[in-house]
Amino acid sequence: MSSSNNSNINEINEPLKLQGIRGIIYDGFKYLHPLKKTILFQDGQIKEFNDDRGLEDVLDLPDDVLILPGGIDLHVHGRDVFDIFPGEQGDQTYKEDSYTLSLALAQGGTTHAMCMPNLCKKIITLDDYQKQLFWINNELSHRKKPIIPLSMYALIEPGSSPLIDNAMYKLLWNTFGPTNFPNDEEVKITLMNYGRKSGSEKRRWVTAHCETIADMVKDKNIPHHMQRPKMAAINAVRIFLEAAREYDFHAHVAHISSTEEVDIVMEYKSKGVSTSCEVTPQSLTIDYEIFEKVTGLPLVWGQQNPPLRSYTDRLALILKQNYIDIYVSDHAPHTTDENETGISGMPQASTEGQLYLEQLTQGNITLQDFVWKRSITPGSILEKELGLKKGKLEKGYEASLTLITLGKKSRFNNSEILSRCGWTPYENFNFSNTIEGVVVEGVLYSQSALQKLRNK
Ligand SMILES: [Zn+2]
Repeated sequence: MSSSNNSNINEINEPLKLQGIRGIIYDGFKYLHPLKKTILFQDGQIKEFNDDRGLEDVLDLPDDVLILPGGIDLHVHGRDVFDIFPGEQGDQTYKEDSYTLSLALAQGGTTHAMCMPNLCKKIITLDDYQKQLFWINNELSHRKKPIIPLSMYALIEPGSSPLIDNAMYKLLWNTFGPTNFPNDEEVKITLMNYGRKSGSEKRRWVTAHCETIADMVKDKNIPHHMQRPKMAAINAVRIFLEAAREYDFHAHVAHISSTEEVDIVMEYKSKGVSTSCEVTPQSLTIDYEIFEKVTGLPLVWGQQNPPLRSYTDRLALILKQNYIDIYVSDHAPHTTDENETGISGMPQASTEGQLYLEQLTQGNITLQDFVWKRSITPGSILEKELGLKKGKLEKGYEASLTLITLGKKSRFNNSEILSRCGWTPYENFNFSNTIEGVVVEGVLYSQSALQKLRNK
């Protein structure tokens, strides 16, 4: 390959292993100097930065394309389960498998994701955990190897204790039938087992879906968001963080949906409790009042837990997002038939980076905020908890990058959505910016290459 200026990355419509890439680089701290710089790769890692031009197998990017650290999404729902093949009981690969998940994530500018354990097999023992990690990351008889590496949460169920040393744990509270807690008090009792007070040397990472059982309104005739009021989320966050304060584990609040929850996280941070939180693109972009108008879809397709909140709640959350540690997607692929019948969760992976960049265009965050919430902070979490080297543009870190063009409009039809479920709530949306593609461990995937991979 020549190192001449490629006017359009999309002309490269096959995955392309690179020796390096040259362009305008923003690393989350500063733009690197001189204006264009070369990053060289070796064995899927960043080897060095230099000013060389004209090297073989170094892609020289157009001047309007920006190189950022690869996006990381610590909250996605994959559908592959170890030892379960298509058509067998418990199989959900008709709506996603790890390969289609990886394509969808790359489409949204993500280069690493963490999968949730609400699966038909419980991921509790080291054996389950290792089998699942192997399964979701490798080629199988019925599908190809995912193009991006995937991590996995281990599951907390009522009365459980941590059985895996180096795992991050997920508590689903009352949102996953097989591990639902009988009441909110039992949640706290189980969390005691995950604290340092129960004898572990390390402060364990626990992510919780925070909605109390006591605050649910059991009335199928009222709208979904009224069945699961905001107070359920607010009260659950307090129970969770109080448990973290008493038992000493790291408490990460999943998909924050109101500023009141952010305030509680801030309050406990100021008390010295180890805590953090995440937000989703849908909580910043759509609410139950505007959903039908802006998506053109029935509101039942926007059902999720915690539910979409009001217009006022959403605007307040947009203004408070800088107190939120990380950006995730809560990508939950279901077929349109399933969403029509009222299942919770929406596909989000394919449009994740584009929607968060919209926050930048609207002036709600800076590019630095975007890179920290999307790459650097989740990367440092993965480094501390799992020993992975991702999300930073530094020698020795994974050579994974997100390539964007600010101010270049983009959009997706459902037919272009790479999640197998094949739809997005944002088909009507014109994004203000473009994710040109990603580099994953030194291999470039342009948007056109990703489209071609789907059909292979
Ligand atoms: Zn989720």
